Amino acid sequence: MSLLLTNVGSLVTNDPAQGSGGLLGLVQDAAVVVEHGTIAWVGPAAAAPATDERFDAEGRALLPGFVDSHAHLVFAGDRTAEFNARMSGQAYTAGGIRTTVAATRAATDTELDANLARFVGEALRQGTTTIECKSGYGLTVEDEARALRIAAAHTPETTYLGAHVVAPEYADDPAGYVDLVTGEMLDACAPHARWVDVFCENGAFDGDQARAILTAGAKRGLIPRVHANQLSYGPGVQLAVELGAASADHCTHLTDADVAALASGDTVATLLPGAEFSTRAPYPDARRLIDAGATVALSTDCNPGSSFTSSMAFCVAVAVREMGMTPDEAVHAATVGGARALRRTDVGRITVGARADLLLLDAPSHVHLAYRPGVPLTAAVWRAGVREV
Ligand SMILES: [Zn+2]
Repeated sequence: MSLLLTNVGSLVTNDPAQGSGGLLGLVQDAAVVVEHGTIAWVGPAAAAPATDERFDAEGRALLPGFVDSHAHLVFAGDRTAEFNARMSGQAYTAGGIRTTVAATRAATDTELDANLARFVGEALRQGTTTIECKSGYGLTVEDEARALRIAAAHTPETTYLGAHVVAPEYADDPAGYVDLVTGEMLDACAPHARWVDVFCENGAFDGDQARAILTAGAKRGLIPRVHANQLSYGPGVQLAVELGAASADHCTHLTDADVAALASGDTVATLLPGAEFSTRAPYPDARRLIDAGATVALSTDCNPGSSFTSSMAFCVAVAVREMGMTPDEAVHAATVGGARALRRTDVGRITVGARADLLLLDAPSHVHLAYRPGVPLTAAVWRAGVREV
């Protein structure tokens, strides 16, 4: 069964060779053919081939489904009071994670799975067709492995984050916790994970600990990604680049050497403006990274403590308003940028052979994602060619 989506007013292909060129490879008055879950043809509507089915986009904008490469969705409990207190003047520290750890440990598998399904569905309804999911609220061998097992039922992009914070049982023995994370916990988690991550930050793990954790994960076939330079300057970004991590995430406090390292390597700088929004912190400087030549991704960092949004459109709007990105750059970062951060070439673009992950906006242009902040613009979503919304 082949499907023609035609009368697309403005198509974001993310292939600069297409259409009018530029970063997004925009094609006006476009059409797309989907076959067997993948893109079979892209071009001007007037030249589209015959198909079994036809969908009229009525002049609206079509773009690749968002690729959210950073989320923490296996958790239980509620931190409304903490957010309320922070917005009433308290400072954010990494320690609030332990509140969620206690609630997550106490939850059943069924409860955690239902929570995760709810957030993945919520993201999908807002156009996110690929989502990464980390562990990190269990912090025991059994609870971390359980989180990844549950996550793997919803996405192939699962990340072992036993090194989110030091488990409360090891408060007086952080070295012992690193031994657990690089030993028995890694053994239990590696079969369910694609990635290994560490929160490299004051109050979490220092550079030496992060190096040990990422190196141990890499030896088990997990690819590193790093929570780096979020709350302060530190070694995270340099470590990520040195170890060939797919992504350095947050990148809020960067020296010139950090920016140069990101620009010279393959490590994507993943910016998470929801975290700065929700902690009233200064935003990362996307303009500086892009001008230096770094690849930038935008993601939600959806988690109950520091960024409880699943909206990639919100991140696009904030990135344009507060981080020096053009609307084209922000949409690029939220789609193909996220795909690069996950080392995926089959998503984040609308090109022949790519997975048919499509977001139809209730708007004539992708620019409306920033131009109309807070307005629900999802008209339809297809994932692997299947209409989901
Ligand atoms: Zn995070």
